[in-house]
Amino acid sequence: MRSLNLTLWKNFCFLALFIILIVGLICYIIVRTSISSFTQDKVRTVGVSVSKMLEQNRGNTLQAYLIADEYIEREAFENNVNIAVLTTDGDIVVPVEQRLSDSEREFWQDVHNGIIDRVSDFDGNRLLYATGNIYTYVELTPFAATTSVPNYLVVRYSLDVANSTLVNTQRYMLIIGIFVILLAFLIAYSLSKRISDPLKSLTVTANKMAKGDYDVQFASAEYEEIAQLSDALNYACAEIKKTDGFQKELLANVSHDLKTPLTMIKAYASMIKEISGDNPEKRDKHLQVIIEESDRLAELVNDVLNMSKISSDINQINKKVFNLTEFLYGIMQKFEYLHDMQGYVFDLDIDPDLYTCADEGKIGQVLYNLISNAVNYTGEDKKVFVSLKYVKDENRIRFTVRDTGKGIAKEDLPSIWNRYYRVKEIHARPVKGTGLGLPIVKTILEKHSFDFGADSEVGKGSVFWVDFPEVPPELPGQEQPVKQLPSGEN
Ligand code: ADP
Repeated sequence: MRSLNLTLWKNFCFLALFIILIVGLICYIIVRTSISSFTQDKVRTVGVSVSKMLEQNRGNTLQAYLIADEYIEREAFENNVNIAVLTTDGDIVVPVEQRLSDSEREFWQDVHNGIIDRVSDFDGNRLLYATGNIYTYVELTPFAATTSVPNYLVVRYSLDVANSTLVNTQRYMLIIGIFVILLAFLIAYSLSKRISDPLKSLTVTANKMAKGDYDVQFASAEYEEIAQLSDALNYACAEIKKTDGFQKELLANVSHDLKTPLTMIKAYASMIKEISGDNPEKRDKHLQVIIEESDRLAELVNDVLNMSKISSDINQINKKVFNLTEFLYGIMQKFEYLHDMQGYVFDLDIDPDLYTCADEGKIGQVLYNLISNAVNYTGEDKKVFVSLKYVKDENRIRFTVRDTGKGIAKEDLPSIWNRYYRVKEIHARPVKGTGLGLPIVKTILEKHSFDFGADSEVGKGSVFWVDFPEVPPELPGQEQPVKQLPSGEN
């Protein structure tokens, strides 16, 4: 796997190198072409100027020679060029004989030979050619018209000086280039380090978290994206910590809740065997305890199983239209034994013949869990108020279940829908439960997109409510679109 640090650094350096090479190449090409065209212009301009002077100064007098000689010497000096007037046979007319060394004479002889080789290349009376670094301009001029054959006016310029300047410039550019590349290396290194270091630190912290340390804090970073990642990880860590806490609590709760009925069952079974076996009255009492404790165990196991079933998506919602009124009466029947045997009072206020469209089995579980909670947590008067009312204007049916218990503190209200959550104070009472009843309710109602919620006041009791869509009864069996209701407190 490639390292982000190294990749960033390498790419940045390659980019810097590429830019410098391109800029260098472009500069070199531009300088070379402009030097070449500048030189051609230069020899041509000097040639034309000298040629004009010679035309004005025609004649075979010593004076004319001296003027031409002086002019040519000055032009040659000022423009850093070699200038001469040669006869077509190669004799030097200007500069005058006395000013020339042997090597200069040889030089002009070579130039003359070069011109002779290119006689056919003349463009009218002009010729411009380059040999290596030297540009030569030749013009046929009638200076010193002693013969009818015109002379060659020759202007030569060597690029050697310009080339050495170019080489020097290139050398400087190379040094600057190396310096810039080194700088780019350093900038790239520090930049890639600034990006990858916080990521490395996040990885180290994430590894700690993976080993079970949920107190870690993911450090924030300079760059927005990494800071967002760090925030998301901190959030995930906090959530995992919460769930982990809930799970540990559940394990403690479940093991405690399993242990108590099991101990009771064992104790009462032993009592029946050893003491009350022959006493029908006592035996029945003891058997009743065993039955109740077994029910409690079964309920506990059911809750855990239901939660895991509902959490997995295998459990699809199968909606159909059904009579919610009758359905609720059916559920209330299950609680009749509590009325008969334990004196619970169920106050019912149920509108007749209300139809809804939902998954009947799952809604049964919702209603059962909510009513069970009201039974479990209601006050000493053992009263539970159940109502099912049609809200005409909004075309919905509101189910509410109210108890007279201790209620739920405001700060606990949002958490009761979380898995394994049990309000601490209430849990201190020997109330059965796993903290899974309400999460099951929440999962089912969210899958239906039904609104639901809870209101409570400490000391006065709690109200749990669910809104069902109302559908016409004449379409039983047909699936109805579910009306989305304004969200409630949940
Ligand atoms: P449990 O099995 O513990 O009842 P639930 O998920 O049904 O689990 O409820 C979660 C917690 O919400 C309960 O432990 C209790 O603290 C609180 N709770 C639920 N219903 C009521 C109620 N009607 N009155 C007071 N507290 C309630």
